[in-house]
Amino acid sequence: MKLQSHKMTVSVDEHTSHLEAFKAFFKRLDDEGVTIEKLPRESIDDYHLQAINATLAHVWDNNAFYRQSLVEAGFAEPKIDSLEQLASVPMLRKDVIRGDKMKILCVEPKEIGQVHLTSGTSGKPIYTSYTLADQYVYDLLPKYLELFKESDEDVAAIALPYEFALPGLGWQRLFQFAFGTAVLSLGKGGYMAPVDKSLELMKEYQATVLATTPSYAALLAEESERYGIKLGEDIRLKKIWLTGEGCSATFRERLEQWWGCEVSFFYGSTECGVVGIECSEHRGYHVAEGHVKVEIVDPSTGKKQPYGKTGEIVVTTLLREGMPMVRYRSGDIGYLQKSQCACGITMDVLHLRGRMESMLRLGGMDYSPFLIEHFLMELPDVGMWYHLKMNQGELTIEAEPFRTTLSDEQLADNIREHMAERIGVNCNVVVRRDIPRTFGKATRIFQS
Ligand SMILES: [Zn+2]
Repeated sequence: MKLQSHKMTVSVDEHTSHLEAFKAFFKRLDDEGVTIEKLPRESIDDYHLQAINATLAHVWDNNAFYRQSLVEAGFAEPKIDSLEQLASVPMLRKDVIRGDKMKILCVEPKEIGQVHLTSGTSGKPIYTSYTLADQYVYDLLPKYLELFKESDEDVAAIALPYEFALPGLGWQRLFQFAFGTAVLSLGKGGYMAPVDKSLELMKEYQATVLATTPSYAALLAEESERYGIKLGEDIRLKKIWLTGEGCSATFRERLEQWWGCEVSFFYGSTECGVVGIECSEHRGYHVAEGHVKVEIVDPSTGKKQPYGKTGEIVVTTLLREGMPMVRYRSGDIGYLQKSQCACGITMDVLHLRGRMESMLRLGGMDYSPFLIEHFLMELPDVGMWYHLKMNQGELTIEAEPFRTTLSDEQLADNIREHMAERIGVNCNVVVRRDIPRTFGKATRIFQS
């Protein structure tokens, strides 16, 4: 069987790097008609060990900070003998690289092809520098053809930020280079692309795929009604990819109903690129094990956690030369499972629980905001815009009514009762009709 090949392959003039060997590895998979998605676990582990050692050697040779931290951790050479030993490699904390353009740069500055920035919602931004080869060669080596069904028959609308951040351009490259998909670069509410124009363009070009955030997918659906564009008729999508903000499975299912197509999650970051991709079973993210090695650690001790135990997600990039991330502490919470997925993909499954700082402490328990959202969205009369406000251990939910005949008082009572039953804690409920919509990241949690 011949796999769908990349639509375009790029070479960068006079360029070689520590990653050349992996071109051959992925070429061989291609020739055998397989992707990394269904390799036996041992083969994935072998690849991980080789790629991690190649990365360790690269950062040791080209970056003083990385080298010094390895030396301080007792490394005489940049090498581990087994994946278990990865736990002895120092972790990289966000605050060490925040606001610093050079600290973990592993190439000459003139080799940089593009710089991306995190949104810096919690302080100074983090800069990530990619070489041209990172973007156009290495990042496209691993294929996930079980997870991505897009082809040159599709038209993909990308409603993600193109300014500074990685997502817009990252998806654009993936669709164009890997699948040959026509792309509509909508962005997210930039001055060239107001919502009505974006919807109009999706209709005119018969978009089949949309990549956006959960809140923007809800916003576009809501606004389509205002502009008289019928989802499922005027715009007939096959697939929505959600990224950038997490959300609950119930929020996802609501989007599926509204848009009339399958909706899947994609987990990645500007620092690390792709980390996890949801398959059609919708039971967690398959780790993109061609691109990253994911570990879970106890956030307070840094100790590696076994399968099934929740902790902080730590990511090591495997195919980066500009700015490899070695054991990067993401600040996100989740746990790993060995894949026993019905889809047949052997790559580990990651269950995401949200960001560490946004956990809600209620009645002595820590709740992921996604879980609270899940309970809230179980009520069909509640809209998709809401706020969770914590004040001195008390939760106030601000919610909007959605296509309901209930009075505001009845709805508030329903929410109060339902939440008390689900979380065993009483909360305050305020029904509003004016929760602000946003083009940026939706802010839903307020802690004071
Ligand atoms: Zn699966």
